[in-house]
Amino acid sequence: MQQNRIFILIGVLLIVGLWLYGTYIASPRPPHKRPSGTTSPDNRRVEKTDAEWKEILTRSQYNITREQGTEWANSSELNHELRRGIFSCVSCHNPLFRSDTKFDSHTGWPSFYAPIVPNAIYTESDGSRTEVRCSVCDAHLGHVFNDGPEPTGLRYCMNGVALAFTQEKP
Ligand SMILES: [Zn+2]
Repeated sequence: MQQNRIFILIGVLLIVGLWLYGTYIASPRPPHKRPSGTTSPDNRRVEKTDAEWKEILTRSQYNITREQGTEWANSSELNHELRRGIFSCVSCHNPLFRSDTKFDSHTGWPSFYAPIVPNAIYTESDGSRTEVRCSVCDAHLGHVFNDGPEPTGLRYCMNGVALAFTQEKP
């Protein structure tokens, strides 16, 4: 008798668990709302549904840019990218950072002291940290900290997965 109850309980928990999991993976992620007054270079704007992002992004790109994930430290090849060029948003190709503002922060993440233009990105409070997003498509890029080098004193700590590098001719 006691055993039957346990089996029923396990069965019910399993069904509820599967149902919750099903609704979780089936529910589309609502689009991120930019803070009012946010601008972007040339007023460019790229908006896609969750399903459309999933189609064009790899699993890790989607996880970082749309689910605010963080890549493993030292996992991105862009960490060691020292050539002259531009780092753009992997989701919408919005130019974000120039190579001459890149520095070695010894953190394991590509780091820059300033965006290419001020409105290439925008920031939002993320608990105790400040989140950095692409102003064109709202992709989560990483965080910004106040322990960067001169001239800004800022450290834009980026996920390499969220960036695409284009080399410029020397
Ligand atoms: Zn973007």
